[in-house]
Amino acid sequence: MMHDQATITRVYEVLKDTYPTFDEGDDEWMTSGMSDTPFRVIVATALSTVTHSKRVIRACTALFAEVSTFEGILALTDDELRELIRPVAHYNMKTLSLKKMSQQIMDRHDGQIPNTHDELMALAGIGRKCTDIVMTTLFDESSVAVDTHVHRAVNRLGIVHTTTHVATADALNRITPFEYKRHAHEWLIQHGGKVCVAGTPKCGACPLTDYCDYFQKTRQSVHGATAQPELPTKPRTKK
Ligand code: SF4
Repeated sequence: MMHDQATITRVYEVLKDTYPTFDEGDDEWMTSGMSDTPFRVIVATALSTVTHSKRVIRACTALFAEVSTFEGILALTDDELRELIRPVAHYNMKTLSLKKMSQQIMDRHDGQIPNTHDELMALAGIGRKCTDIVMTTLFDESSVAVDTHVHRAVNRLGIVHTTTHVATADALNRITPFEYKRHAHEWLIQHGGKVCVAGTPKCGACPLTDYCDYFQKTRQSVHGATAQPELPTKPRTKK
């Protein structure tokens, strides 16, 4: 079933009322300083692919204690950088891409992080998800970044029907109303990680059952059969 725009808006209203944005809550990524500077944003994001955020934070905490600039990364030997980022997946490949990205930013952009999708996508180790996160975080050009949690949740809901993360990002950015774009990734990643989880989703605790294709199709076998996890408590006052 295709959802109309009014339903998509209601889905986002429910998500907004259910989950805190990262800067409203006590998200470890924020409290650990992963977004404190533009340098930290792009480096932490580049290291985050296919890696649990706790491992990214561990690697970045060690790395950011040693360097705070792209020149700093280039001054490290490959072995030194590899040891610092060892907690993340594919640390060998990411050592090389982090160095190449740093060199590209120094050579092509005078040490400044570029502010267009095309220039970001041209950097080593930076794909679509990283680009969307950097554009949203640093340049206030909100794009909904899509990872595996977001991809799974929005396809189960049926607000997109896609098979790749890039296609999901394209579709989601097309249908997401502007006012929800800045925080859509943050709400959806929490929803996919805590409730609409891989394997058997926790539909019994989901506030989106009224709008969900997956639930409507499987309600007989799923509804009431799942544990009731605690939903996050959204702060009552916003900043
Ligand atoms: S009802 Fe179930 S499948 Fe649908 S969004 Fe909620 S948890 Fe996911």
